[in-house]
Amino acid sequence: MNGYREVVDQRAADALLDRMAGFHDALVKEFHFVSRAWIDAERAANLHSGRDLRVLVQSQVEPGAIELLCICVAELVLEQDPDGINDTEPDGAIDVRGASGPDDRPSVRVEIGNGLRVVCQRLLFAERPEWAGPAARLGGDVPPPDAVPAHVLDDETWKCGACSATFAVTQRSGFASCPACRRLVCVAPPPSP
Ligand SMILES: [Zn+2]
Repeated sequence: MNGYREVVDQRAADALLDRMAGFHDALVKEFHFVSRAWIDAERAANLHSGRDLRVLVQSQVEPGAIELLCICVAELVLEQDPDGINDTEPDGAIDVRGASGPDDRPSVRVEIGNGLRVVCQRLLFAERPEWAGPAARLGGDVPPPDAVPAHVLDDETWKCGACSATFAVTQRSGFASCPACRRLVCVAPPPSP
């Protein structure tokens, strides 16, 4: 996916932690949580199990700032952080656990020191050295890495790139759930942050 790299195993997790000095002298600046389910204006429910999180971590260590995409969040804890920065032990951690059985799913546990703790199925990241300072940046949708493309047929009708079902999209959020196969489909270019 554009500009993001995925933490696919513990070695990649250790390399990321190394790069960010274990999230020491770092802080969770902002996060944006999105459920892939919604209730529309007619009060109809569009169900989907995906819940994703986008996190901006700023650090006093190079590269300065990093964006994390936590896909399919299972657990989310925001811990008390009186200083607002992770400058005491313990530093952060990333633990990758592969699936051990057919019904088991891989999970990634991410701890940003004394700030945020997330357990999710997939973790992607992008270095954002230009994202220093106080301004908010994480508007728009959380980019899902497994979205399939959809093709526009007319102003409101789109065709799923996975199953070819056609469906109406009235809200251009960038992503929608295909009513036939339930895959996430991209119905517009994702907004640039
Ligand atoms: Zn579909």
